Amino acid sequence: MIDFQHKRIGILGGGQLGKMLFQAGSPKHLSIHIMENVRDCPAYAVCPQFTIGDIKNFDDVLHFGRKMDIITIEIENINVEALEKLEAEGKEVYPQPSAIKIIKDKGLQKRFYDNYAIPTSPFHLYESASDIKKAIDNAEILYPFVQKLRKDGYDGKGVQLIHSADELNTLFDAPSVVENKVEIEAEISVIVARNKNKEITTFPPVQMEFHPTANLVEFLFSPSDISENILEDADNIAREIAERLDIVGLLAVEMFVTKEKEILVNEVAPRPHNSGHHTIEANYTSQYEQHLRCILGLPSGSTKAHHAAAMVNVLGAEGYSGQVKYLGMEDVLREEGAYIHLYGKTTTKPFRKMGHITIIGKDILHVKNKAENIFKNVKVISESK
Ligand code: ADP
Repeated sequence: MIDFQHKRIGILGGGQLGKMLFQAGSPKHLSIHIMENVRDCPAYAVCPQFTIGDIKNFDDVLHFGRKMDIITIEIENINVEALEKLEAEGKEVYPQPSAIKIIKDKGLQKRFYDNYAIPTSPFHLYESASDIKKAIDNAEILYPFVQKLRKDGYDGKGVQLIHSADELNTLFDAPSVVENKVEIEAEISVIVARNKNKEITTFPPVQMEFHPTANLVEFLFSPSDISENILEDADNIAREIAERLDIVGLLAVEMFVTKEKEILVNEVAPRPHNSGHHTIEANYTSQYEQHLRCILGLPSGSTKAHHAAAMVNVLGAEGYSGQVKYLGMEDVLREEGAYIHLYGKTTTKPFRKMGHITIIGKDILHVKNKAENIFKNVKVISESK
C-alpha cells in the first residue's frame, strides 16, 4: 500500500522549477513544503506550505529540513553543510550532499569526469586571472579558450570565451576552470532519473539551441536530429554519471557533440532542468513527476515521448527592465498544441527567464517551424525602459 500524503517533502528554492515540482505532486496531493527568502517568487502562488528562509543559510536550511521527512532542491546554490547535518541526523536528502558538493564546483566536476574517464574537454584549474596569464605565457593555455567560474555561475553568467590577448582584461579574477574551445556541432541533454532502488530511467535526448552571446538556451527540440548511435552513447554516458555519483533523483547531463562526432560532457545539474520542461506535455511522465517518484521510493514512470516537442524560453528582451509585459501571446493561444507557462515574475530584465512555451505535435519539422515563429513573435518588455 502506498500512502502518498505520509511523507513531508521539503524543497529548497521557490523558483520556477520548485513551482513545477509542486504542481507535479499536486494530482497525488503530496505533502510538499517550499522554502525561499521572499514571497515574490514563482512557487509562492501555488504552494500554501511556504516557509520564508534563506536557502544559503545554515540555520534556515537546518530548521526547515528538521520539520521534513525528505529534503530536495530546485537549485544547487544552497547550504550543503546544513544538508550534510540533516543527512547525518537521519533525514533523507536527495540529491545527496556528496553529489551536490561535486556538482556545485565546476573544478571538482571536471576532475570527477577525469577520474572515471568520462569524456570531457581538456581543462586546467586556476586560482586567479594572473595565474591564467602566466599559463598563457608558458603556452599551457592556447587561444581560443573558455573560462568558467568554479562556483556560482548560472545561465551562462560566469562563462566566457576568450579569443585573443585583446580580451584578457575581461578575465574573471576568481578560481576558475579553463578549457579548450570545443568545435560544437550540437548541444544535447539527457535527463536521467535514478530511484532509491537504483533503478535508472532516461528521457529521450533533446537538442538545445543557444543565444550566440548570452550562452542561454533559446529553444530546444525533441527528438533531436543526431544519429541513433551517438544518442545511444549519450544515454550510456548519462547513466554512468548517475551511477558513479550514486545519485537519487534527477540528473540533467549536458553534452556537446563535436564536429568530429565525439561526445563531450559539458556539465550536469542534480535537479529538474530547463531541457526537460517539455516532458510535462510531451512525455508519459514528466521530469518533475519522475523526480518525486524517485525520492519517494515509488516505481518510476515511462519516460517515453508521445509527441514531438519544442520548447521556447520566454526571456526578457534586451533593453527592457521593470514591470513585465508580454507581447505576441494571442497567436500562441490560437496555436494547436502550444502551452504557455509563465513563472509570475513581476519584473523583467535582459535574458531573465520569465516563462517558456512548449509546442507539441506529430511531426518534429512542423513543431520546429511553429517554435521558430513563436520565438520571433513573442517578446517580453517592460512598461518603461
Ligand atoms: P552554465 O553553467 O552557465 O550553463 P555552461 O558551462 O553550460 O554554463 O556554458 C554555457 C554555454 O557556453 C554552453 O552551453 C556552450 O554553448 C558554451 N560553452 C561552454 N563551454 C564551452 C567550450 N569548452 N567550448 C565551446 N563552447 C562552450
